[in-house]
Amino acid sequence: MTTFTSLDFYNIDASLSDEERMTRETVRQFVENEFMPLVRECYRKGEFPAQLIPRIGELGLLGANLSGYGCAGLNNVAYGLINQELERGDSGLRSFASVQGSLVMYPIHAFGSEAQKQEWLPKLAAGEAVGCFGLTEPDFGSNPGGMRARAEKVSDGWRLNANKMWITNGTLADIAVIWARTEEGIRGFLVEKETPGFDARPIHGKLSLRASDTAELIIDNCVVPEANLLPGTNGLNSALKCLMQARYGIAWGAVGAALSCYEEALNYAKGRVQFGGKPIASHQLVQEKLVFMLTEITKAQLLVLQLGRLKDEGKVTNAQVSLAKRNNVHQALEISRLARQILGANGILDDYAAMRHLCNLETVITYEGTHDIHTLILGKEITGIPAFE
Ligand SMILES: Cc1cc2nc3c(=O)[nH]c(=O)nc-3n(C[C@H](O)[C@H](O)[C@H](O)COP(=O)(O)OP(=O)(O)OC[C@H]3O[C@@H](n4cnc5c(N)ncnc54)[C@H](O)[C@@H]3O)c2cc1C
Repeated sequence: MTTFTSLDFYNIDASLSDEERMTRETVRQFVENEFMPLVRECYRKGEFPAQLIPRIGELGLLGANLSGYGCAGLNNVAYGLINQELERGDSGLRSFASVQGSLVMYPIHAFGSEAQKQEWLPKLAAGEAVGCFGLTEPDFGSNPGGMRARAEKVSDGWRLNANKMWITNGTLADIAVIWARTEEGIRGFLVEKETPGFDARPIHGKLSLRASDTAELIIDNCVVPEANLLPGTNGLNSALKCLMQARYGIAWGAVGAALSCYEEALNYAKGRVQFGGKPIASHQLVQEKLVFMLTEITKAQLLVLQLGRLKDEGKVTNAQVSLAKRNNVHQALEISRLARQILGANGILDDYAAMRHLCNLETVITYEGTHDIHTLILGKEITGIPAFE
């Protein structure tokens, strides 16, 4: 039972329901059998395996913690486990599902009109349509409240002008949730890709999150009907509520990336022999690295499990989500770096997962609030004093 004791050291499995365990196993099988055979080529080419999108939809993994409109209606722990297993494969796979579920389906579900929900949610849940979320701009990342995007009221709806940067799923997307400043404050709009003036340009040269579609969106005098305004959006806070959903999933996802690195490093250390015929796992310095990994993974697993239970009870706070995102991504990055070192020269090859996870996690620690921004959020929570400026 090495697997059980190594990967679930505190028997967290026993705290999961049958449905939660089954969900995790289904996603694990999908990732192992259908995604892993593709990931190396996708990463080399810098492509997301878009052919898997209908299958991801069929498995019910998109917007899985939302109810109705074709969504799976799972609890937040099951949803977290989905994110964990997707990111055990690759952060790009989890990013696809996070954006679709938390940043596109969630705002339509939470702030959309009945017609918008009926039109978009079933298609997005089934993977028959793809969505993206445009908040960041070239000059406004950590401070999206400074955005230049504008939406002005015109006789037949709204005219939008915006330049959105670093948009996951951007070129794949049929629909973009765009945040823009209006006379009444920041609002969210649905912009369909066929809208004249809408252009999504792929961002090339990424050394991180390569198996993910990242684009710049140019929105040049796009006119959308009044029916495309998300009526429930009201200021930047609405966008931040979406980010909070995504950050929750990322905190779980980071555990998956860390588990993949730990498992790989442990197996390698037991098999790799140096000095006197002994495996490198027999050396204290290697064991110390593995113990650090196991300790941090176990702490991270306990954090997200309790976070998920709080979310299911409707008691989770933004600061609690920030703490888990900040900690788990930071530790996963440390773990991926140690795993790569244990693998020696082989660790830089894409035959192994460690270096891919390490590079990916450099994005994950930056997006959805950088590590330092989450530090400031928590600093404000503790002291009551904002230190952003
Ligand atoms: C691959 C990828 C995918 C992404 N996908 C999306 C997406 O789908 N949609 C979307 O809208 N955005 C997306 N983003 C954008 C992401 O959310 C931003 O990159 C992030 O918010 C940081 O913004 P920035 O890159 O402009 O960095 P900046 O805000 O310029 O920050 C640079 C550095 O300065 C630090 N810093 C900034 N302000 C402070 C301060 N007050 N105090 C201390 N330090 C500070 C930051 O912590 C960071 O280390 C994506 C990014 C990447 C890399």
